[in-house]
Amino acid sequence: MAVERVSAAGRSVHVLARTCAGEAACTGCGVVSRRVHSSYQRRLADTASGGQEVLIDLQVRRFFCGSPACGKTTFAEQVPGLTTRYGRRTGQLQAVLQAVALALGGRAGARLTGRLACAVSRSTLIRLIRAAADPDDQTPLVLGVDLSGVLSHPSVTSPAWPEDLFPHVGVSLSKVPHQRRRRRHYERAWGCSVSCLMGSGPGR
Ligand SMILES: [Zn+2]
Repeated sequence: MAVERVSAAGRSVHVLARTCAGEAACTGCGVVSRRVHSSYQRRLADTASGGQEVLIDLQVRRFFCGSPACGKTTFAEQVPGLTTRYGRRTGQLQAVLQAVALALGGRAGARLTGRLACAVSRSTLIRLIRAAADPDDQTPLVLGVDLSGVLSHPSVTSPAWPEDLFPHVGVSLSKVPHQRRRRRHYERAWGCSVSCLMGSGPGR
């Protein structure tokens, strides 16, 4: 990408740039093409600089796809890390806004983005939260169970613990006396190792 001009206007910094790679990979089939169909300008909002919003006017090209098996006749080139299909923000700004949304939510996050010179609405931040990838699912190795209320009722019995899934169990026994005895009781009842007792008191 080549930057041709940077100018300031009001509270914004404008960057005029263009792509200059000789080829681009089709976004449908991945086949590389050198045949340019047309060019056009798109505007991208970027992270602020010196407290001023940054707008990039980027000249991009549309290429012909040369693969007969591809459903696309033409495709728009993308700049990795900067542009996405139909995206109006750079990847960097999108990541910053998503981090703000996840940390603060919609209303407080929107107020902060105004101070960061990249103001977006509360609903935009909520959409970013919904679009965020779920964290990887991992089977827990230690499970915490709060039994401090149950333990005062000796009539309560426990089913066998699924030891294959949770070989170690953390039991919250704060404020309950005789914790060591209780631990042995649950080890026998569940048939597994109760290896961690949380809370304070004897028998920890
Ligand atoms: Zn293609």
